[in-house]
Amino acid sequence: MNKADSERMAGILEAMGYCEASSELEADLVLYNTCTIRDNAEQKVYSYLGRQAKRKHLNPAIKLVVAGCVAQQEGEALLRRVPEIDLVMGPQHTNRLENLLFQVESGQQVVATDHQHIVEDITAARRDSSICAWVNVIYGCNERCTYCVVPSVRGKEQSRTPTAIKQEIETLAALGFREITLLGQNIDAYGRDLPGITPEGRRQNTLTDLLDFIHNVKGIERIRFATSHPRYFTERLIDACADLPKVCEHFHIPFQSGDNSVLKSMARGYTIERYLRIIQQIRKRMPDASISADVIVAFPGETQAQFRKTLSVIKDVGFDQVNTAAYSPRPNTPAATWSEQHPEEVKVSRLQEINKLVQETSHLRNKRYLGRLEEILAEDVNPKNPNQLLGRTRTNRLTFFDCQGPSGFIYKPGDLALVNIETVRSFSLSGTAVK
Ligand code: SAH
Ligand code: SF4
Repeated sequence: MNKADSERMAGILEAMGYCEASSELEADLVLYNTCTIRDNAEQKVYSYLGRQAKRKHLNPAIKLVVAGCVAQQEGEALLRRVPEIDLVMGPQHTNRLENLLFQVESGQQVVATDHQHIVEDITAARRDSSICAWVNVIYGCNERCTYCVVPSVRGKEQSRTPTAIKQEIETLAALGFREITLLGQNIDAYGRDLPGITPEGRRQNTLTDLLDFIHNVKGIERIRFATSHPRYFTERLIDACADLPKVCEHFHIPFQSGDNSVLKSMARGYTIERYLRIIQQIRKRMPDASISADVIVAFPGETQAQFRKTLSVIKDVGFDQVNTAAYSPRPNTPAATWSEQHPEEVKVSRLQEINKLVQETSHLRNKRYLGRLEEILAEDVNPKNPNQLLGRTRTNRLTFFDCQGPSGFIYKPGDLALVNIETVRSFSLSGTAVK
């Protein structure tokens, strides 16, 4: 989400006539798009800002902008901490960057953190990839997970209309993009704030309806979406993913903990049994689907036995990938005020143990690809080897293969290649394109 916001702001700056500087210490305008999901993400920006503040003393014309979730969380306090900052802007103001910079140019120091109805973005994003694009479909989050800072910094859910989303995807297809990933903090909430009930009394404009609606955009070969919430994940969605050929068999569904009482104190709104049922249903319709997840270890009060339950879930499900994190207390969240916080040693040791297991299970899951023919969408030239392309399987496995196939055909980014998988590592595959 943060990356998608950065690409939109880069697009706005480019349209205003800015171009990329050779380094952040050369730039006339420096914009940090910050993240505050955990404390270590937040702390990074302060060290960067210190260096920029020094530069600004030598050259007062430099403009210093702090955008994103730390900006929203800290607001004016950031100006007190680093008075050299010109603009503090929360994530809901992303599309207003140009307007805010005009205010800065008129000599003001600006703090834009008030609630905004997010305006449709008419500026094209400056995207890092020319093949795969993020497409925001819903901003904000109405959940109240007790550890999470997102609702307080990204605000209430706001869905874009299906028409606006489809238009963006059509534009992307015309520019040569082949894959899109629909984005939302809780993408299953898509459309809850849009009007519409079907004649049968069902809510219209669900994520499933949206997938149906955008599926026929010509030129787009693959559709993904993230992040799914187990509380709202429906069987109807699973059926749609199985039936719609462009929707990839890859699901990112965080479970956070394998223990029901921890899930309850996290206010996640599901049991681990429900989560496992969802995985079962997915695998019934799409046996080869890849499943990834997020988990938090050392949540306040998590016992050793509860932590073991999380490890068991990882062993039993056979995830393709799991993002792990030790619990980090965040401002204005309930869990941060609880007394049963774990010391750093417990966090580090649980994290190390879980990471080791994740690496083993990912490797095990990857082994199934050995000797198989996989459809790879080539995304880019391998930055470490110009004779190779990198791309992904439909199940989101990073795969490398030579640009020149045995037949002599030269593959390029944007091509769909059938690759015979010959090498399997924990986090990537390699092979030879045969068609
Ligand atoms: N909306 C998504 C992702 C939110 S943030 C969801 O509901 O899952 C991405 C991940 O960061 C979360 O899934 C969670 O595992 C992790 N995370 C969020 N807050 C955290 C905290 N305070 N400490 C540690 N990890 C956290
Ligand atoms: Fe945070 Fe929960 Fe919302 Fe995800 S669903 S962004 S974890 S509050």
